[in-house]
Amino acid sequence: MRLAVPVPLRRLFDYLPPEGLSADDLRPGQRFWVPFGNRSLVAVLVELVQESPLAELKPALERIDRLPIFDDRSRQFLQWAADYYQAPLGELYAAALPVALRKGKPADHWAEQWLELTTEGKGLPETALARAPKQQTLLQLLLNKGRQSRTALNAQGLNAPVCKALIERNLARWVAGPTAPPPLEQVAPRPAPELNDEQRQVIAAVEFGKFNASLVEGTTGSGKTEIYLQLMERALQQGNQALLLVPEIGLTPQTLRRIAARFPDFRIAALHSGLADGERARAWLSAASGVADIVIGTRSAIFTPLPRLGVILVDEEHDGSFKQQDGVRYSARDLSLVLARSANVPVLLGSATPSLESLHNALSGRYQHLRLRHRAGNARPPQISLVPTLHQQLQEGFAPQVLRHIGDTLQRGEQALVFINRRGYAPAITCEDCGWLADCPHCSSKLTLHRRQRHLRCHHCDYRQREVHACPQCHSRNLNALGAGTERSEDFLTHTFNQFPVIRVDRDTTGSKQALDRLLEPARNGEPCLLLGTQMLAKGHHLPKVTLVVIQDADGGLFSADFRAPERMGQLLEQVAGRAGRGDLPGHVLVQSRYPEHPMLQLLLNKGYGAFARQLLEERQITQLPPVRAMALVRAECEEPRWAEEFLTNARLYLEALAPPSPELQYLGPVPALLERKSGRFRFYIQITAEKRGLLQKLLANFCHWAESNKNRRLRWAVDMDAQELS
Ligand code: ADP
Ligand code: ZN
Ligand code: ZN
Repeated sequence: MRLAVPVPLRRLFDYLPPEGLSADDLRPGQRFWVPFGNRSLVAVLVELVQESPLAELKPALERIDRLPIFDDRSRQFLQWAADYYQAPLGELYAAALPVALRKGKPADHWAEQWLELTTEGKGLPETALARAPKQQTLLQLLLNKGRQSRTALNAQGLNAPVCKALIERNLARWVAGPTAPPPLEQVAPRPAPELNDEQRQVIAAVEFGKFNASLVEGTTGSGKTEIYLQLMERALQQGNQALLLVPEIGLTPQTLRRIAARFPDFRIAALHSGLADGERARAWLSAASGVADIVIGTRSAIFTPLPRLGVILVDEEHDGSFKQQDGVRYSARDLSLVLARSANVPVLLGSATPSLESLHNALSGRYQHLRLRHRAGNARPPQISLVPTLHQQLQEGFAPQVLRHIGDTLQRGEQALVFINRRGYAPAITCEDCGWLADCPHCSSKLTLHRRQRHLRCHHCDYRQREVHACPQCHSRNLNALGAGTERSEDFLTHTFNQFPVIRVDRDTTGSKQALDRLLEPARNGEPCLLLGTQMLAKGHHLPKVTLVVIQDADGGLFSADFRAPERMGQLLEQVAGRAGRGDLPGHVLVQSRYPEHPMLQLLLNKGYGAFARQLLEERQITQLPPVRAMALVRAECEEPRWAEEFLTNARLYLEALAPPSPELQYLGPVPALLERKSGRFRFYIQITAEKRGLLQKLLANFCHWAESNKNRRLRWAVDMDAQELS
């Protein structure tokens, strides 16, 4: 038998079946323990073969699953992804599995007891058992919706004694069955609103039962989530599963509540990093066995086998978290199209600020291009004004009129939101006497002062050291914290608006999804308050009382060396601005900038992200960069910079010998990454752009083969197909 073993080698490995098992016991998609070197690893059977080119095969140690946990379609899909991203298949299987299953825990561990009616039970009328109300509720449930898992019954307060009563009357019995998803918080059901015309047109354009791809470009608050819910419902009515992919910080308790409130009768599995290993395995298995009807998850949920898949929805498709930046560097957004095609189902990508990739596909007709131009309900688009900051007397980074606006908003009993793209107190510490700067000893970056925790921290490698009060170079005590992060602004704003609560939202104040939910509680209740935070505030939250949004510094993306920086800046500004005026009250956005005349900023703020993005797309046409061309990076990093550079220089020679540079194929590099040194390693890359993906694929496959024979163990290399970051 041929298995995918989780090792960084792009090949499969042959083993004999474990002792005592015959060919009849073996099925692709089962997991096995196999000996590998002097370790035991969890591998997945991909193919049964009669003969192996190897003379002496070892037997696998043990079969873990009796029933395969990967079905045919999902195995083909993983194979496709491995080929496309030049990733070892074994590592892809590992990425697809939740940790507990990756470690070899048997799926049976989460097998569930299900309560089903006996023939006698099925024959009863719904009104039977009227004298025992709980038993009657249970009977009705089983009559109307079929068998129920013990987990689901417990969550509804139908516990063991009630079940036992029915069993003793010989009306029901427990049977062993597949895993059920962990129960969600109980919420009151909420029916769907009446759709507006634009929403109806979008829904009508999506065809079920066949592959079709759509991009819905809908302004913030235009009712995209409502569209996802309605499309899910269509799939569920046909007896199929719905997959909703959300960004890492998009899977909030608020989103889950909204979905649970709409679909009280369906089984929902949420897959995200906040779950304990066991819970995540249960959610995954319930999806893979077809028990869960709705699967909501972040990036890796795309790899969950879904035997009844009926529709795929990708929320905030432009979000960077859909692309994995290490290990197997896949894009869940891009893979959603591949999966939809192979499952013959519709896929819909949605965003107020579509990626240039998706916009390009929509404008060129590869996707249906659907638009929502108006906000749903009564909400109106916010009014946006630029506030020049260059020759202004600023107070801790805020212009006086901005502070006045914040004060007025709070006085009116409304909420204001201040967006600051930096965590911590200050992004750099310097000595005023000798010019010393606090650098990370392991990265080419500055240390950020976190005053609450009294330490300096590197945001790239998480190195920490105690806060310093004297210059380590000249011993002067004249140290200065440069610039402002969220902590510093929090201090200032709390002091300035001391009658109102100031809520800081960033990764330091929100350890868990629940923490964020709790933190936002006063804001949801509608009390006047001042929200202040990083991009965590830009996404997903629907806070109707926010009428003022302040963007403290809009200039971040204007002068970056990364060609995607303006696109990201535009997305972020539009998303943050979109938090204003989502309810009945009108919204206002104030954007502080040192370069208010900058044409890109002008375009973005006057014409909106749509026009801005189309302009960027034209520039990419001229520069021949993605999405107009396919691009991949070949990366290498090493403590010894010369080795990484030399490796890539040789790599380029090798690649150019296979396919010389031409107008259709261009090489750049090796060049240092934008963050040249990280965690003690120097990082370089070669950038390859090609007119045709096929050519790039072939080249990269050859390169991997060549690079796998590289014997320098201290050098790490990787292929990054459709790379998103040059950092
Ligand atoms: P988006 O996902 O585009 O930001 P949402 O779907 O969250 O937008 O909708 C924004 C708000 O408008 C939500 O409160 C939602 O309940 C409401 N809404 C959506 N569609 C409608 C509709 N057709 N009628 C009334 N309210 C709606
Ligand atoms: Zn000094
Ligand atoms: Zn560092």
